[in-house]
Amino acid sequence: MPDSRPGEIMGALDAEYGPRPWESRGRAVDVLVETVLSQNTSDVNSHRAFESLLSRFGSLEAVVSAGAADIEEAISNAGLSRIKSARIKEMLVRLVRENGSLDLSSLNTMELGAAREYLTSFSGVGQKTASCVLLFAMGRPALPVDTHVHRVSRRLGLIDSRMTAEGAQAALEELVAPSERYRFHLHLIEHGRTVCHSRRPRCGDCVLSGLCPAASVG
Ligand code: SF4
Repeated sequence: MPDSRPGEIMGALDAEYGPRPWESRGRAVDVLVETVLSQNTSDVNSHRAFESLLSRFGSLEAVVSAGAADIEEAISNAGLSRIKSARIKEMLVRLVRENGSLDLSSLNTMELGAAREYLTSFSGVGQKTASCVLLFAMGRPALPVDTHVHRVSRRLGLIDSRMTAEGAQAALEELVAPSERYRFHLHLIEHGRTVCHSRRPRCGDCVLSGLCPAASVG
């Protein structure tokens, strides 16, 4: 692939979706818990479950000493609530045991790979969740690869079509400059949701059709 294509793709997506300056989505522990809640469900359901957790206990600090059954009930909107409640409780208890609090700001000064390694040492935290915490809470240049980023990147030929999401993360981080990863992530999600749909991509309406090897005509 010519080196100019990632820049051309970003330019076209910037023009289509506008600037996306980084905005913090909250404390790292909040993003961590909300991202665990979001696994295998919609953003709407996971956000409701997170709000319900806070409204029931007042704070994540209070969830540390809460009973598993009460946590499970509070997050029932998110689905898989038994597994998720056990994971959330375990991670919060461990954070307090190891750090004395739920403050994860030490990740800010760690090398990116070490910060990822620490986060993925928690049960239920994979590369995508770890990258979400680092990117959305701290503005670290991690690139989460969700289903939209994965699909659109493959169709655009930015990554090999057989590459797994975890492989895609490393490959895309090689390709996309650190300062552009936040925008790239948001642009590809928006593009995947609105134009490059999983089943019937709207190639005829796509600003990337001239750059896309998977563009269908007609
Ligand atoms: S041209 Fe089609 S396949 Fe390629 S990015 Fe656009 S919508 Fe997706």
